[in-house]
Amino acid sequence: MSILVTGGLGYIGSHTVVELINNNFDVIIVDDLSNSEKFILDNIEEITGKRPIFYPFDLRRKELLTQVFDAHNIEGCINFAASKAVGESMTEPLKYYENNLFSLINVLQEFKERNISNFIFSSSCTVYGQADEMPIDENTPLKEAESSYGKTKQMGEDILKDFSRAYQKKVSLLRYFNPIGAHPTALLGELPAGIPNNLVPYVTQTAAGIREKLSIWGDDYPTEDGTAVRDYIYVVDLAKAHVAALKKLLNSENETVLDIYNLGTGKGSSVLEVVKAFELANNVPVPYQICPRREGDITVAYANADKAEKELGWKSETSLEESLKTTWEWQKYLNDRNN
Ligand code: UDP
Repeated sequence: MSILVTGGLGYIGSHTVVELINNNFDVIIVDDLSNSEKFILDNIEEITGKRPIFYPFDLRRKELLTQVFDAHNIEGCINFAASKAVGESMTEPLKYYENNLFSLINVLQEFKERNISNFIFSSSCTVYGQADEMPIDENTPLKEAESSYGKTKQMGEDILKDFSRAYQKKVSLLRYFNPIGAHPTALLGELPAGIPNNLVPYVTQTAAGIREKLSIWGDDYPTEDGTAVRDYIYVVDLAKAHVAALKKLLNSENETVLDIYNLGTGKGSSVLEVVKAFELANNVPVPYQICPRREGDITVAYANADKAEKELGWKSETSLEESLKTTWEWQKYLNDRNN
């Protein structure tokens, strides 16, 4: 059984490909390498002993996508391919709407025409905005997203809800909290393009001396230590949730399924807690300075992930410290590669 993984050489995509192969799925990757690198394919092979079929093209090229569907017996898709820089999405919104939505719709059209079901969409807790109550469960009302990136996730979810209902398809929307960490082999991890926006890559590069100092965006939030709180989920745990969600769709006897799951640890950690945990886990200092709040940031977000545990038998297993150790090992691997 072949599963199409779009964006399969990206950060979460590559970890998910490994888990799919470990669960005996045949994987076909389409990735345009816009925010990923070819050596990740070699590393997936090194980890699993199997080299997935790989097509390097942009999913907006419908004619190439059609050829992939002609050539393989595809029975499901996990869709990671998307532009994801929140800040850039505010200055280049059309790039985000076009890239994230056209590529999604192209895959869905193939599904419709060929009568394929089983579609997993990579969504985000950003669809909740600043929720009124913590923890955030799947019934928490959605608020207008702060960024165009976030809006593409909300729109993607809407498209999939209609797709599932109108064409009787099995769909799973996975709302990730903050993914962190790297593969325990240190052969896969996040490859931030340019200066990282996200906390953990920035912390890691600061510890490595690539950045001088971490800027902590705000210490005047109404939280215990004044810094903002997020739910940091280990990327391998997250990858495993995709396999569980896919198996549930494949095994479901219903024609139409619309699953929605929050994927987080259920525990909030502040920015300062992350910095301290990194220092402790890796025994390296992370110099930082306190700066004003970053525009668009919310105060606190952490998941209630009970539904995923109940229905998928999945829960987060890896501690913040363990995850941050893998990030550091990955950084060392990258340093060695570059030298
Ligand atoms: N953050 C920070 N300095 C950085 C990057 C992030 O203080 O260089 C903070 C940010 O303000 C937020 C948290 O870390 O409170 C997580 O930010 P990230 O961009 O990783 O994720 P998101 O904002 O999507 O939750």
